[in-house]
Amino acid sequence: MLLKGKKVLITGGSRGIGAGIVREAVAEGADVAFFYRNSADEAQKLAAELSATHPSQRCIAIECDVSDEGAAQAAVKNLLADFGSIDGLVNNAGVTRDVVFARMNRSQWDSVLNTNLGSMFNITKPLIVQMAKQRNGAIVNITSVAAIYGNNGQTNYSAAKAGIIGFTKSLSAEVAPQNIRVNAVAPGYINTDMISILDPDTLSYIKSRISMRRLGNVEDIAPMVCFLLSDKAAYLTGQVIQIDGGITL
Ligand code: NDP
Repeated sequence: MLLKGKKVLITGGSRGIGAGIVREAVAEGADVAFFYRNSADEAQKLAAELSATHPSQRCIAIECDVSDEGAAQAAVKNLLADFGSIDGLVNNAGVTRDVVFARMNRSQWDSVLNTNLGSMFNITKPLIVQMAKQRNGAIVNITSVAAIYGNNGQTNYSAAKAGIIGFTKSLSAEVAPQNIRVNAVAPGYINTDMISILDPDTLSYIKSRISMRRLGNVEDIAPMVCFLLSDKAAYLTGQVIQIDGGITL
């Protein structure tokens, strides 16, 4: 098992890609804590299910709004007191507020920047010192192909996700001497609630631009994230791994 004995924190684990990563990390032997904001029922159900199927491992769901620095600091501190240490962090929580820039208001800009990019600071900051002290850690940040190609209606989202790539590369250089690796995964279009707002015509157009002619599934993303968290990826840092079925936007 790739993550046997490791302790991992995943943000936005209640639904979608994050929930897929929680499942995969538990299946790979990790003790997992995951943060959620609104979906308390889904989160507690997932934690209960995985705790029942893997009784020798921990799997706990914790309410924490990752865009709130104070809440994030407190939640990470409490988790460190509970778990003792954290070996792996997946910064996955994210939102969209799609609208063309000419019509975008400040709140749509701020909520996407604060959640998607602000959370990188809020969650990573209280953990990095502990990882440096233990001279061991792996961080995986979830960005998007929108950061690389851009996308109509997503100036806020693309800016935040491009910021994640810069953050990943700079932090990876800073902390590599402490044996901490920092990588990013850039999914293409993955079948989750996030893209359920797209109309059928848009979805058909998107599929026609994907070489594999299908949307991705959370199971297409989660194994790579767990590999990057694992010691098998010991010499891999500062990279952005695109998982998009061969997209040509
Ligand atoms: P979903 O909308 O399905 O799930 C989003 C998750 O993030 C939920 O668990 C949600 O928790 C959590 N979340 C959102 N805001 C916060 C917050 N402030 N604090 C804590 N948790 C929060 O999205 P996906 O699973 O599709 O997306 C996951 C990540 O992958 C995101 O970063 C997204 O940008 C990225 N991505 C997704 C793609 C796709 O096509 N689906 C493509 C490229 C990147 P809750 O429901 O409890 O509030």
